Amino acid sequence: MSAESISTIAIIGGGVSGCLVAVQLLREARAPLRILLFERMTDVGRGVAYGTENREHLLNVPAARMSALPDEPGHFLRWAAGRAGEEGYPATVTAADFLPRWIFGEYIRAVLAEARGGAAPGVELEQIKGDVTDLETEAGGVRLRCGDGRSFGADRVVLALGNLPGEYPIKRPLPVYHSQRYVHVPWHPGALAGIPPGADVLIVGAGLTAVDMVLQLQEAGHQGVVHALSRRGLRPQVHEQHAAYPDFFVEEPPPATILKLWRRVRAEVRKAGGSGIDWRPVLDALRPRTPAIWGALSWEERARFMRHVRPFWEAHRHRLAPTVAKKIEIRRAAGKLRFYAGRLDSLIETPDGVEAKFRERGTTRKQILHVAKVINCTGPRSDYSKYQHPLLVNLLARGLIDHDPLALGLNALPDGTVLGYRSGPVGWLFTLGVSLKGVLWECSAVPEIRDQAQRLARRLLV
Ligand SMILES: Cc1cc2nc3c(=O)[nH]c(=O)nc-3n(C[C@H](O)[C@H](O)[C@H](O)COP(=O)(O)OP(=O)(O)OC[C@H]3O[C@@H](n4cnc5c(N)ncnc54)[C@H](O)[C@@H]3O)c2cc1C
Repeated sequence: MSAESISTIAIIGGGVSGCLVAVQLLREARAPLRILLFERMTDVGRGVAYGTENREHLLNVPAARMSALPDEPGHFLRWAAGRAGEEGYPATVTAADFLPRWIFGEYIRAVLAEARGGAAPGVELEQIKGDVTDLETEAGGVRLRCGDGRSFGADRVVLALGNLPGEYPIKRPLPVYHSQRYVHVPWHPGALAGIPPGADVLIVGAGLTAVDMVLQLQEAGHQGVVHALSRRGLRPQVHEQHAAYPDFFVEEPPPATILKLWRRVRAEVRKAGGSGIDWRPVLDALRPRTPAIWGALSWEERARFMRHVRPFWEAHRHRLAPTVAKKIEIRRAAGKLRFYAGRLDSLIETPDGVEAKFRERGTTRKQILHVAKVINCTGPRSDYSKYQHPLLVNLLARGLIDHDPLALGLNALPDGTVLGYRSGPVGWLFTLGVSLKGVLWECSAVPEIRDQAQRLARRLLV
C-alpha cells in the first residue's frame, strides 16, 4: 500500500479524550492507519486535570470507576494496585480510594504506550508537539496548520480540545486583571507564588477547583484566611460509599420538562430515604441515563435547567473525596476558610493588595474584603465561540464549527459528528468530551469519555 493511500486520522488535543481515541484506534484498526496526535503541551495524557504534580489534588471518582477501557472496568484499579508502594504511590490501593490525579495521567500514558505496542502492522501513532491553529480543506483531504508554520495532511480530524480557561469573575475589562494580584488560570505553574504566608486570599468560586487551591495553599504553609465567594454559597457534597441504586427510569420515558424531572427525582430520593437509602446512589443511578434524559428536553427546557437547577446539580454531582472534605472542614472550623454567598461587584487594586466588594445574596448589604491575591476558580468553561484561540477563531470564520444553541459547547450530533455553521455535518470533523456538553450534558468525566472514545473510533474506522 502506498503512503498516499493510507488513511490518516488527526486528533487535536492530547488530554484524556484525545489519547483515548488514539488508544481505541490503535486497538481496533486492522488495516494500515496513520494517527497523528497533536498536543501543544510537553506531555500527552494529562491536560488540566491530571497535569497537576500536587499530591493533595485527588481524583473525585473512586479508583474502581476510573478505567480508561470500557471493556475492562477494573483496569485502572489493577494498574494502580500493581504499583502500590512504589515511589510516590500509596502503600495500598483499594477500589474505593481517591488517588492523586497525577497518577491517572501516568496511567493514560501507559495505556497509550501499550496500545501502540499491540497495534496491528501498519497502524501507527505519531505524537506531534504543536499548537494547531487552522484547518483547511484541500484536494482529497484536510490540511492542519500549526502555529510554528508546520503543516500536516489528514483525511479526518477529531477535535479533543477539552477544558477552556474560566470566565472572568466580573465580565467587564478591569485593570486588576493585568495585575500580579489576580490569577486568572490557577493551574499555571507558579500561579500561587508570592502570596505572603499570613496574607488573606479571595477565591472566586467554591467548587472543586477552589478546593484544590485551598489544599495547595495549605500545603505551601499558608496561614492567612481564605475567603471563598460563590453566587449561592453552595459547596460540593462529599462522596460516601453506598450500594448501587436501581435504574429507576428504565420503565418510563424521560420527562419532557425540567419541572417534571425535578419532581420525579425528588420523589425517588424521598422514596429511597424512606427505606434508609441515601440520595447519592439515587443521583448516581441517573448518570448513564443523563444523555437520553437531556436529549429528550427541548433547548428551552435545557436553558431552564441552566438557570434554576445547574448549581444544585453541580454541587451534588461533583463530589469531594472524604479525606479532602475533612481537611476543608478542619480549616473552616479553625476560621481560616470562610464561605460567602454573593455577587462580586468590584475588584480594585490597592497599594498593598486588592479591595473586593460584593453584595451578599438575598440582601442589599455590601461587604468589602482586603486580600493579597484574587484567584479565579469559576471553573473551566466550554463556550468555544468566545475563546479567542486562533484554531477556534479560524474554524468559526470558515463555518466549520458553530456553538450549540445554549453555547455550552460545539453544535454536534450526539455521536460527535460536528455540524458546520447553520448547516449539517462537516463530514470529516468530529469531537468528543466537554465540547459535547450542550448535546449530552454528562460528557466530560472519564466514565463518559472512555465510551465516547470507543464509539467514535469505531465510527472513524468504518
Ligand atoms: C481540575 C479538574 C479535575 C478533574 N478531576 C476529574 C476526576 O477526578 N475524574 C474524572 O473522571 N474527571 C475529572 N475531571 C474532568 C476532566 O475534564 C476529564 O477527566 C478529562 O481530563 C478531560 O480530558 P480532555 O482531553 O477532554 O480535556 P483536557 O484535559 O482539557 O485536554 C485537552 C488537551 O488539548 C490540548 N489542546 C487544546 N487545543 C489544542 C490545539 N489547538 N493544538 C494542540 N493541542 C491543543 C490542551 O493542551 C489539552 O492538553 C476533572 C477536570 C478538572 C478541570
